[in-house]
Amino acid sequence: MQNQRLADAVRPDRRYNLLINTTLLLIHLAFAVVYARLGTPALFYYNLFSIAVFMAGYVAVLREWTTAYYIAVYSEVYLFTTLNLLLLGWGCGFELYCFSYAISIQLVSFMMARERVAKSMYIIVGGITAVYFLAMRLVTWEVSPVYSVPEEARRGLYLANALIALTLCVNYVGLFTRIVYLLASDLRYDSTHDALTNLYNRREMWDLMDNDRVAEHGGAAVAMVDIDDFKQINDTLGHETGDEVLRALAERLKALEGGGLYTSRWGGEEFVIFCGRDDAAYYSIRRRLEDFVRRCAATPVMVGERRVDFTVTVGLVMADHTADVQSLVNRADELLYEGKQSGKNRLVVGTLED
Ligand code: GH3
Ligand code: MG
Ligand code: MG
Repeated sequence: MQNQRLADAVRPDRRYNLLINTTLLLIHLAFAVVYARLGTPALFYYNLFSIAVFMAGYVAVLREWTTAYYIAVYSEVYLFTTLNLLLLGWGCGFELYCFSYAISIQLVSFMMARERVAKSMYIIVGGITAVYFLAMRLVTWEVSPVYSVPEEARRGLYLANALIALTLCVNYVGLFTRIVYLLASDLRYDSTHDALTNLYNRREMWDLMDNDRVAEHGGAAVAMVDIDDFKQINDTLGHETGDEVLRALAERLKALEGGGLYTSRWGGEEFVIFCGRDDAAYYSIRRRLEDFVRRCAATPVMVGERRVDFTVTVGLVMADHTADVQSLVNRADELLYEGKQSGKNRLVVGTLED
């Protein structure tokens, strides 16, 4: 669930692709005008080809032919960069332009790797570029006004290219900052939550029980929930159905959360509930758990078409805020055991003393 956010961050959605496509199209249109005015026929004609690529790009983006789109953009950017650098030459700012394009090529390669485009694609694109360049170079050796661009235009090109390079760098830093942030929050989530149920895991629950106590508060309660005869559910209906039951139970537990009440998967088919901060939660926990046990028995889990009946037994210990966490957990476990011994499908409530 969390990893999805990371995947989305590095896999642009349709809107983002449309924006990029439009930006690239506008840039190429602008350059077509510049090349026409500078009298560089090779680049002008090539730009017409680029414009056609980005026009077709709209169809690819809208139909979600993502792989084809990335390959087209990658090839175009690669060719365009090489031609710009070699035909217009150093001194017009195109070395800066290539610098910025080198960054975009990396980004597109990254996208292609994500789309699992074969490595041979890079070689093919590289090969086409080389052949194309050689052909263009032969045709335009004499006509390309490599070093005859007027000083004003040269400065303008420098500035434009510096801006493009800067914008891409800023974008890159932004993208990687987001990736690092999402990775960090994913790691944090994975280390504190159970993968099957998305409830807190045992380690996080220990921390919560240790830290989420208010000294002046009157009470702390810990409940241990265990599914009755769960082995039988696994044995008769299969492990996957067992997992579905665990997920469904976790959702019902999650619905109890709030107001200082936390739920966690303690391990296997055991869950621990804790409240120790909020008076209302503390004084209502008994009634809510009675209700919970009753509802589990009355409301089967639907796994596809199949209806799976199950019950739970709960041990609940209610103590004052000074009680230490280990004693509370041990006592809840004892009370749960009592519940199992006395027939299951019930809530057994006790204190630390009795
Ligand atoms: P009792 O009423 O005494 O609790 O009986 P029980 O069959 O539930 O016994 P116990 O609590 O010892 O059974 C735990 C079972 O839970 C054993 C194990 O196969 C199963 N289990 C533990 N973790 C998972 C899980 O992630 N998925 C599934 N499907 N089963 C699990
Ligand atoms: Mg059990
Ligand atoms: Mg158990």
